[in-house]
Amino acid sequence: MTALDTSKIIAVIGAGTMGAGVAQVAANAGHQVLLFDVAAGAAQKGIYNTARGLDKLVQRGRISQQQQDDLIARITPVDNIEELAPASLFIEAIVEKLEVKQQLFKQLEDIGGPEAILATNTSSISVSAIASALKHPERLLGMHFFNPAPVMKLVEIISGIATDSTFAESIYDTAKAWGKQVVHAKSTPGFIVNRVARPFYAEGLRLLQEAATTPATIDAIMRDCGGFRMGPFELMDLIGHDVNYAVTHSIFDAYYGDQRFLPSLIQKELVDGGYLGRKSGRGFYDYSDGAHKPEPETCEFCDSPKQVTIIGQSTIAEIFATLLTDAGVEVTRIDGNEFALLSDNAILKLTNGQMATVRAVEENINNLLHLDLALDYAATSRLVISAADQAETSAVNEIIGLLQKTDKQVTQIDDIAGMCVMRTVCMLANEGADAVNQLVCSINAVDIAMKGGLNYPAGPLAWADSIGIENVLDVLDNLSQNYGEDRYRPSPLIVRKAAAGKSFYE
Ligand code: NAD
Repeated sequence: MTALDTSKIIAVIGAGTMGAGVAQVAANAGHQVLLFDVAAGAAQKGIYNTARGLDKLVQRGRISQQQQDDLIARITPVDNIEELAPASLFIEAIVEKLEVKQQLFKQLEDIGGPEAILATNTSSISVSAIASALKHPERLLGMHFFNPAPVMKLVEIISGIATDSTFAESIYDTAKAWGKQVVHAKSTPGFIVNRVARPFYAEGLRLLQEAATTPATIDAIMRDCGGFRMGPFELMDLIGHDVNYAVTHSIFDAYYGDQRFLPSLIQKELVDGGYLGRKSGRGFYDYSDGAHKPEPETCEFCDSPKQVTIIGQSTIAEIFATLLTDAGVEVTRIDGNEFALLSDNAILKLTNGQMATVRAVEENINNLLHLDLALDYAATSRLVISAADQAETSAVNEIIGLLQKTDKQVTQIDDIAGMCVMRTVCMLANEGADAVNQLVCSINAVDIAMKGGLNYPAGPLAWADSIGIENVLDVLDNLSQNYGEDRYRPSPLIVRKAAAGKSFYE
């Protein structure tokens, strides 16, 4: 079977946020779409809302009036579920309740006949569980769109235990033909995106719990250094803490309390207190009229030493050598396996997942500072450091001054193991690696999913390759040791790749 051609009719059931968007995607690709909703007038309202959304594209000249009219004309609201019979593919986007979805699909498999393919847009229910109620469970799969469906590029095609791979392939090709980036995944809690993304929120919340710095500073670090469009706190405020907490909790429960998915007490307190984020006017930030968004913390100006020694030939060593030479600092290069930047009295090293305070003792360097990961050290507008407790203030200020010479803002956070970007990215990669290791999806699927579903600046596994898998493993091992928590256990796939000296993409 190949992609469904555009002569095939698509039925969409549920005309709310997701259903109306999915109907638009299918109609945009040229299909006739039948839209049904149990609530009277909801299908008509869904189409009306789609038309108003398209008005903006017409006004901006992105599509013509004719294209808008043709697209809307291809979506027909139907009042009676029996009228969906001519469809070849039935996409369900109704209420997130197992029994209600099972009931609907039992009806749909009778209405659609033996040739129909059934798809659920569920975010959190097992596809196998929904299919278990059917006479032909092999015909049901997950077709997980992201909100807003016409804008977000990703579709996860989810196979349950009984799903026939021929149908999964056909709907994969169909979603591709609709202009989407598509990945296959096995039906497991959170599928790919909602599972692999958990550390993005969770590590931010852990950093806050340990008072690493302020939410506004962590958000700025994740945007400026990590290249993420939004930091975790502004994103959770946007999603709504009730929704984000419920997803985290459902995944934590679904994985039988695996500590990797442990929800945060800080977030629970916000939910309990009604601080739901933008929608309630207050979350981590205050959204009331006239409220000011707090600024990220940035170091005061410090004098820079005139000279620096840079150890190693890594990309980061090269970038700092260029930046500091261009800034008029006298740079001496020396060989070495590990990047380090030596001022008169202090040493700056890339964080390895230990607290700088502990590493300073182990390596017998009093004035040790850590540098956080940046997606691109040349392009980042901010550099983030932390200092060992035993480091002298004058030595810390030397490094701050030196880094400020590169024309970047410098932020100092408290001495927290793994810092912000490094520990978040390593944990994202760890979760992605575990999904691959457990045959949920391929390496490529993890990266496509996180970029297409959440606009991540890089796929976590490709990012792990660029950090170096052995370095990622080091960070995870050190986090494990630092906290003594199972949460930071490295995925066997990372252990294995590091031991073999291999990367994800070789
Ligand atoms: P929604 O509340 O906006 O819309 C659901 C619609 O389904 C409503 O119009 C309701 O009247 C209708 N409905 C309920 N029971 C029905 C039934 N038995 N038959 C026909 N219509 C029925 O919900 P939504 O946000 O569009 O979510 C729909 C599905 O998509 C859920 O399974 C959800 O988990 C999933 N999903 C949601 C998002 C999101 O961000 N909103 C993203 C991905 C997936």
